[in-house]
Formats: sequence, C-alpha cells, structure tokens
Amino acid sequence: MNSVETSKLELGILGGGQLGKMLIEAASDWNIRCHVLDPDPQASCSKLAHTFVNGSFADYDTVYQFGKNLDRLTIEIEHVNVAALHQLEKEGKQIFPQPAVLEIIQDKGKQKAFYEYNDLPTSNYQYVDSKEALIELLEEEKLSYPFVQKTCKAGYDGKGVAVIKSKDDIVSLLDGPCIIEDVVDIEKELSVIVARNRNGNTSCFPTVEMEFHPVANLVEFLLAPANISEAQEETAKQIAIDCINAFGMTGILAVEMFLTRNGEILINEVAPRPHNSGHHTIEANDVSQYQQLLRCLFDLPLGSTKAWQHAIMVNLLGEPGYSGLAKYEGLSDCLSLEGVHVHLYGKQITKPYRKMGHVTIIGDNIQAMREKASFVRERLRIIA
Ligand code: ADP
Repeated sequence: MNSVETSKLELGILGGGQLGKMLIEAASDWNIRCHVLDPDPQASCSKLAHTFVNGSFADYDTVYQFGKNLDRLTIEIEHVNVAALHQLEKEGKQIFPQPAVLEIIQDKGKQKAFYEYNDLPTSNYQYVDSKEALIELLEEEKLSYPFVQKTCKAGYDGKGVAVIKSKDDIVSLLDGPCIIEDVVDIEKELSVIVARNRNGNTSCFPTVEMEFHPVANLVEFLLAPANISEAQEETAKQIAIDCINAFGMTGILAVEMFLTRNGEILINEVAPRPHNSGHHTIEANDVSQYQQLLRCLFDLPLGSTKAWQHAIMVNLLGEPGYSGLAKYEGLSDCLSLEGVHVHLYGKQITKPYRKMGHVTIIGDNIQAMREKASFVRERLRIIA
C-alpha cells in the first residue's frame, strides 16, 4: 500500500501571479506548502504562499538561491532564468516542465522549428533576424503582404505580434529577431490542456473555444466545451497529445490552435503551465487544471477531466480610462446569480485592460449562460 506524507510535500513556484494563486489554492487541499518567487512585492501570491521571496525570476542567482533548498519546482510564467534551472536540475532537483522544454517555448523561432521537426501542424513561417532584414526582404519583394510578425522573445498576450496588411503598416513592424507567418484564415481559436505524468501517460481536458477582445488582444470569453464536431475534437486532442509527447514533458501543456475555414487544425503556440483557457475547470470539471498539474508534479494518478457542466469564462479586465486602487462595481449583482463564480486576483492596482480576475458561469442551458455572461461583462466593471 502506498502512503503519502503530506506534511513533507513542498513546491517552489517561479512567478506569483493569478495562476500561482490558483495553484496554491488547489495545493492547500492536500496541505502542500508552496514557496513563491516574484519581483512584485504585491503579487497575487504574496499573502498566500507559505513563504514568498521578493526577487526576479529572470535572474540567475536569485532563481538558483530560491531553488537550492527545494526538491521540486514548477513555473507559472515561462520567461524565467532557464540557465539556473538547468543547473538545479543537474543537482538533482525535480523541475517540471523540464528546463529543456522551457528553452524551446521561450523562443517562438525555436517553437516553430520544433513543430516543423516533429511534423506537428502549424502555419507556414520563416525566421528573420532583425527588422532591417525584414524591410530588405519587403523591398526586394521576397516577402509579400499580408503577414503576421511575431518577435521570438518575450511576447505575451499579443504584445509581440503585429499583423502587417500592406505597405502602410510598415511603421508597426517590431524590432529584433522574429518569425513571419502566413495570415491564417481563422474560423475558431481553440485550446486543449493536456497533462502528462512521469510514466508518459497523458490526459486531455475537453477542447475549449476562445473569443478575443479586439483591442486588448486577451481572451475575453471562453466556451467549454467548444462547439466543434466530434472529429475536430478528436483531432485537436490528438495534436495536443502528440505535442506533449514530442516535448517529453511532465506537467500540463496548453496547446492553442486555430481551426481554419477549410477545416484544418494548426498549432499557434503552447504554454507549459496552467493557462487562462483552463480556469473554468475549477468549477466545471472533475479535476481542475491546477489539481492535474499537482498530480503530475507529485507522482499521483492523473484525475478524470470529465466536464460535469458547460462553462463560459469571462476575463475581468481593468476598465479603460481608470488607473489606481481597484474597485469592483456591480460585484453584488453578479454574486446573486446562480452558477456565477467570481475569482478576483488580489491585484491592488487596476490599469486599462489589466487582467484583474475572471468569472466562470456554469450550467446546462447555454442560452441562459450566455445571458449571464453578457450581464457580467456589462455590469462588473473594475474602476479606480
Ligand atoms: P501571444 O503569444 O502574445 O499570445 P499569439 O501568437 O497567441 O501571441 O497571437 C495573438 C493572437 O493574434 C492570436 O490569438 C490570433 O488571434 C492572432 N494571430 C496570431 N498568429 C496569427 C496568424 N498566423 N494568422 C492570423 N492571426 C494570428
């Protein structure tokens, strides 16, 4: 018979934002003590972590010192110092996702090359090493409009992405090494969260469908499960499984995909951690994405991903025009509705379009849920 001594379960988390907060909440069910590193002293996890270290997860020494006294580490943001994680791994620490996986995912050029090498479906692309080289390609007509430019490093929430439709958009070109992609004719944006344990067993959550805020470029509205055919569902899940197997990764991987208008499913990008597209699993599924990650990290059996309810997730973004101490207008109105679950991330300061929380609406009547989602979107405003 196996026995687990929960008082000995400790986890280091690089990053202390909302994903870390929800991971700590899940960890507390099993009394796992979480230690968090984040540069922001007011980070969402700062008051919840067993210990909170205020420092940069991008700095070698800070990460190394943080990890040295822990046996097990994970991340809630991928832009961390990988060199320090490689060193800690060499010293015998359990680090999931593995540093080698993070190294590929941190760089969109390496990510695309990885998909190509492993025969994973993705849009056509080319690597260009600078803005100047890109302008030269355009002048020599070796590249034609329209295209999507993505910086290789440190893009986040659409900030390193430019859609260049014509010559008039040249002013919007981004600096630095980048990839150029064909513009995909997108019917739907999908995401599958897949888990893989140390034995190589995998399990997918049902596919979800995302709608983006046109200005903020953040997921504004998410529908779970996605309204797609069974065959599309199977294809999306198989792509996610092939992808996590190709990485040989332990942990959870969010695979963002495009369903094109001619029915193809292409990988857009991946995130090797809990993801915005899996928040609803807290209320709607048998296990949440956070619990599933903990199961992978602590060598416990993968849980059932069954969805017990339909879910709609609405991101709560800071209202444009307001910056300062956050106030939640309309909160009581939303809390009085059945099936409406509000998560506030504990960020003191609101800014236009800052992710301040999310609301998950669960139920079995999609139309009624849509009405509640619209109500929440209109009524719950984050102002200062
Ligand atoms: P980020 O890493 O900042 O989230 P993404 O690569 O996910 O950036 O791109 C952000 C959004 O831009 C996508 O969700 C999609 O709506 C759009 N987009 C990205 N790549 C393409 C593409 N090749 N064709 C069309 N639209 C795209």
